[in-house]
Amino acid sequence: LPKLPVFEAISKHDPESTVVIHSKSGRRFQYGELLGDVAKARDRLYESAGREDLDGERIAFLAENSYDYVVILLAILGAKSIAVPMSPAFPASELQYILNHSEALMLLATGKFAAKAQEVLKTELDVQPTFLQLDKLQGGGPHEKVTLDKSSPGSAGMMLYTSGTTNRPKGVLIPQAAMTAQARSLIQAWEYAPSDHLLHLLPLHHIHGTINAIFTPLFTGSSIEFLYPFNADAVWKRLAAPFTTTPPPNQPKITFLTAVPTIYSRLLSSFKTLPEDLQEPAREAISPAHLRLTISGSAALPTPIKRAWADLSKGNILLERFGMTEVGMALSCGLDPNDRVDGSVGWPLPGVEARLVDVDTHQVIEKGQEKDLETGRERVGEIQLRGPTIFAEYWRNEEATKKEFVEGKDGRGSWFKTGDVAVRRPGPEKAGKSEMKTQREWARGDMYFILGRKSADIIKSGGEKVSALEVEREMLSLPQVAEVAVLAVPSGKWGQKVGAVVILDREHCKEGKWSPLEMRRALKERLAGYKIPQVLRVVDHIPRNAMGKINKKVLVKEVFREEFS
Ligand code: ATP
Ligand code: MG
Repeated sequence: LPKLPVFEAISKHDPESTVVIHSKSGRRFQYGELLGDVAKARDRLYESAGREDLDGERIAFLAENSYDYVVILLAILGAKSIAVPMSPAFPASELQYILNHSEALMLLATGKFAAKAQEVLKTELDVQPTFLQLDKLQGGGPHEKVTLDKSSPGSAGMMLYTSGTTNRPKGVLIPQAAMTAQARSLIQAWEYAPSDHLLHLLPLHHIHGTINAIFTPLFTGSSIEFLYPFNADAVWKRLAAPFTTTPPPNQPKITFLTAVPTIYSRLLSSFKTLPEDLQEPAREAISPAHLRLTISGSAALPTPIKRAWADLSKGNILLERFGMTEVGMALSCGLDPNDRVDGSVGWPLPGVEARLVDVDTHQVIEKGQEKDLETGRERVGEIQLRGPTIFAEYWRNEEATKKEFVEGKDGRGSWFKTGDVAVRRPGPEKAGKSEMKTQREWARGDMYFILGRKSADIIKSGGEKVSALEVEREMLSLPQVAEVAVLAVPSGKWGQKVGAVVILDREHCKEGKWSPLEMRRALKERLAGYKIPQVLRVVDHIPRNAMGKINKKVLVKEVFREEFS
């Protein structure tokens, strides 16, 4: 195997320690067998391709969240190729798009998804990839020593497709050096340790799955447990297991949980229906004493969810972070609970450089200039990022790549325009347990508050800018509101007006107890008049993708159809 930093790290971990656990079956896999299995799988890639030079080739794969998934991902890197993880939940048309767009040389699938792969291969493809079924990759060869040769990692890396929230998914090319930098940054910031045991509940084909849940633990020597597909009751059972009076064997305490807001929300509602004898063990399991870190990201964390989680968990405060396919994790709140300020995604992670660029004047908002001196209002800026964690390019899309980077004036590299806008504020005066800070902790910075996407969440109404996220946050704090999406609705008079699509909280809205007027009145105490939704629709369901994100462009046209005609 080539001398990739991740392989070097794995080869140094205790071979007897656990790398992966399958939650359902309780099967365990050890670090000592991993590289041997990777080398064997890599050789099967060579065999199937009929050649050993696969440097920079795209190899797509479909696999369930499992040990096999980890081996396949690493085997592709070991061939110096570019791994293209795909979601088995995608329809054939979406998989066809990815295979065509990435010009994949091979398509790998575990047995479970072999039929799905065959189905896609029957569609019209620009390049016909070689198919290889690859699974049951645990070789049973105990602790074979794998030598790492001196060869360079070549073009090894990964290509992930964005969530497609705002457009057709873009292929984001992430070289292995950026993957490594991202993992190292998280290890430092979140103090990942070999003793950590991560429970992973989400699909793996996103940046969060591949880096936060696989690459980072692999670098650390900590273990990953896969419980998928998500099922709230199963998660509670698993979390509580070590704290019941008869703990089952082989189920270590979970110390690390990373998920998205909708997962926390679903866990909170399903807690109420848990059998009584599980409730106390479950609460104990998620208390700060045991669950060291509980992380939320991918979409804005509603404050009521954060509060309810803290109450239920005896004070465990969700730590919010901001990430993107293109940049990995970029901003994060700190380990000190006092730094987990409501509505903030924290400050730049180690190695990440961030700046805010005023959306009106296009000037960099320097420290101390966060407020407009004339109006006293906070200046809104686009977040721009640079550093070793940033992606290389949008695959076969030079135009988009060019458009999203701006040259830095200091000659220290160009900045990536995230398209997300924010305000920046000083952090809390003094973080409580600052004396507990370890040397490894990265310097605390001023805190970023995301207002949303420039393209979809900033509503321009009569010369004012309204942040959809801010309105959503305030609406969610009304007891009547269970879920909400705030959208820009076209308006002849205002250009755009603020629209809201609401799912009512059933308990609070029994007949007669709710009216739009009443809701507006309640919002008046929280929001300036121009921010209060002018049009409001009640629905039963707001469609979200697997990461809990809403495609607002589609939603607004569906719900406010007549306003578009
Ligand atoms: P596409 O680029 O195809 O439209 P996408 O941007 O949703 O899809 P991802 O890369 O998965 O694809 O998501 C990144 C986006 O998610 C960010 O640009 C930001 O808008 C949003 N996001 C991530 N974390 C947070 C957070 N903590 N709070 C608010 N928004 C977040
Ligand atoms: Mg995006």
